[in-house]
Amino acid sequence: MQRLHARYPFLSAAREAVQSADVDLVALVREGGPAVERGVERVRRALLEGTAESEERYGARAELLSYPVARVLVSLLDAPGATEKYARAEAALAQRRFVADFAEERSLRSGGETLSLGDLLADFGLSGDVRPTGDGQFDVAVAAYLRLSSGLDGEDWRLVRRRLHDGVVPVDNAELETLLREAVRERVAEGLPLTVPDPIAEGLSEAVGQLRTAVADADPPRSFTGRMEPGSLPPCMHALLDRSRDGEDLPEHSRFALVGFLATFDDLDAHDIAAIAGLDDPERVRYQLQRLRDDRGVAFAPPSCATMQAYGDCVNQDDLCAEIAHPLSYYERRAGEPSGAEEDATAD
Ligand code: SF4
Repeated sequence: MQRLHARYPFLSAAREAVQSADVDLVALVREGGPAVERGVERVRRALLEGTAESEERYGARAELLSYPVARVLVSLLDAPGATEKYARAEAALAQRRFVADFAEERSLRSGGETLSLGDLLADFGLSGDVRPTGDGQFDVAVAAYLRLSSGLDGEDWRLVRRRLHDGVVPVDNAELETLLREAVRERVAEGLPLTVPDPIAEGLSEAVGQLRTAVADADPPRSFTGRMEPGSLPPCMHALLDRSRDGEDLPEHSRFALVGFLATFDDLDAHDIAAIAGLDDPERVRYQLQRLRDDRGVAFAPPSCATMQAYGDCVNQDDLCAEIAHPLSYYERRAGEPSGAEEDATAD
């Protein structure tokens, strides 16, 4: 059971396990230790990378207790959108785990420490709302469907686009898993932000400070005014510019990162960006810009360092790279430095 609680700390049984263990949260946060470390990691990775997954192995107790610690941390952080981002990341992690568990259950390889679909539905009070109809299809009661799909993007989730009969909406296996992820997201977000007693807040003040710094970097500037300073560009953008100017047809993610980065400079239009990057298709750049800038011309943030790393676009890191989490933060920091910003490294 411990493993199950550690993997799904939002389940009712896991919450009861924490309560019955009678853990002194004040002592726990004062002492620090693996549960607090993992709690900090849960929030940091959720906000910066969109996942609450751990990079290290923690014991079941630390995993389980790190969840309430993380809920406290995200409450103390009090940053715009933090609660929602955190809940999404926890839900995404849960989905990855329950999809694997359901597959194990179906293959009858389960050793009893996996979560079954029936258990998950029961925990969320959905047993009466979801009925398997065979071949990986399910009928979901319309009220439950509407509630769980309300936060999902995409026309296909709208009720007018679905077959509706006898008060149920048919969904396939993958859609059901998405709806269950939404149920987890709802539960994780429930009650957040918490009102945190002073002794607990004091015990976590250092961790909250670290998270604040990380979040500030993760919420990079969305636009720059004035001329772009080529000498302040991060190494990854230098590299992408070089490749593009050499005539390489960049992969879509690399092109998106480069154009998205340049789109944050207010005075660059599609023609300018195409010229800087050596792209011979300004119309395609114009189309990308339309998608990247909102009605007021403010650009959506291009990929973070974590995403750039995942795609292999983070290259030639320098010392400043170790201190930031976003290429735009790099530029902001470098351009704000008193000297060296004017040196012309790449552009004409
Ligand atoms: S760490 Fe960030 S800014 Fe530095 S090269 Fe990698 S992606 Fe670019």
